[in-house]
Formats: sequence, structure tokens, C-alpha cells
Amino acid sequence: MRLLGSGRERQASRIGYAADFCPICHGAQVFAIDRIGPTHYGVGQGRLAGHERICLNCTTAFQTDPGRYRALAERPAELDVLQAETFPNLDHVHHDQLELVRRIEYDPFAFPPAERHGLIRNVLLCLSEKVERHFSAFKLDYHTGLALAAALVLCLIGPMLLPAVPVVVFMVLGAAVVSWHYLTSGRRYMRQHVLPALARGLRPLKPSADELAHVLAELDELGHKIGKKVVLADLLALLK
Ligand SMILES: [Zn+2]
Repeated sequence: MRLLGSGRERQASRIGYAADFCPICHGAQVFAIDRIGPTHYGVGQGRLAGHERICLNCTTAFQTDPGRYRALAERPAELDVLQAETFPNLDHVHHDQLELVRRIEYDPFAFPPAERHGLIRNVLLCLSEKVERHFSAFKLDYHTGLALAAALVLCLIGPMLLPAVPVVVFMVLGAAVVSWHYLTSGRRYMRQHVLPALARGLRPLKPSADELAHVLAELDELGHKIGKKVVLADLLALLK
């Protein structure tokens, strides 16, 4: 998926709710619809950059066109009620995807290897933009922030409690703790915010470690950060 508003801060405003097909949840789901625009440093609400639909079940975001819905609901509702109101011909529009879901459920190994490769890759690509967005900017997560605060306290209080120890020892210790938390923050983010949805999307395909490794290597080669950021062992643990 194309990056929305890349290079500028994104500004999202919720414009309603609709039913739609989610390739991660393998069926119709309730979606929140957001208008996305880059932050405008002048007047008005900012230049329109596009729309996103966010699945309320798996939290995965996809680009969308609000024109595909008959109407948008003001509030989320039961799926069948929302589908009748916002996307009554969903089953017809997504007939091919729903049929593919049924074929995969029936026998995921009935597909030739190249087709399975493509199906696995499609799931990973659904989460690719989320990973690109997160890793495109320097971020301190909660754990790293705590480590930084603890390191500052250590450098302030340590020399008072242990005056015989040179201050530089506390500084090196603090820097080591902060560095370790920062270096592991990417893996934490993937475990918390990306791998659960990936596992949900991939589970019906029952992919092998070799198949996943092959697709991840291909995506890495094509420049998708998700190819490098997914730790195969973490993903396999969720797929067990
Ligand atoms: Zn979903």
C-alpha cells in the first residue's frame, strides 16, 4: 500500500463506520473510517491525503474510498445491521475473496507452492505500511523512557550513595540500560502491535518456517522493512 502523507505528520479525523471485508480477519468486519490529511501549518483542515478504514477487530488499516459505501454510520453497530446500512452488496463485491477464504479453510495445501507464496506475501503486505510508518521516525517507547528516567536517577543518586565509585561508572551503566531497551524496542513493538494481526492473517494458511523465511527474505530484498523486522521465531511461536 502507498504511504499516506509520508514525510509529514498525519492528521486523522473519524468520519464514520462501515462494514467491509478484512483480509486479516478473513471476512466481513466493522470498520472505522478516517479521513487522513497531513498536518497543515496554515488555515483550514489540511490538504486531503486520503481515507483509511481500520478494522475494529484486528486494528489493521487499509486505504479506502468512502464512495464505495452506501452511507457511513455515526456509530459502530452489530455487523449485520451495519452491513445492511453501509455496504449491502459486500458479499457480491468481495465474492472472490470470500470464495478464496472458503478454499483456504477447506484445504490450505491444495494451492501450488507459488500460489501459497503469493497468499502468504499478501498477508504480510497488509501490515507493511504500519511497520514502515512506525520505523520511519525516531521513537522512544514506554520502556525506553522509563529506562532513561531510571538512568538519570542513577547518575544523580548513585554518586551520593556510593561516593567511592567514579561518576563515569554510573553514566556507563545508565547508557547501557537505555541502549539495551532502545535496541529491543523494535522487537517489542512488533510483538505487541504487528505479530498478533500477522498470525491471525496467516493461521488458516498453516505456513511452514521455510515458506515464511522465503517470503520475508523476498520482502526485505524489495525494501519492505517488515521483511527485516519480523523475527521468524516470534511469529512461529504465535502460529503454534
Ligand atoms: Zn480485521
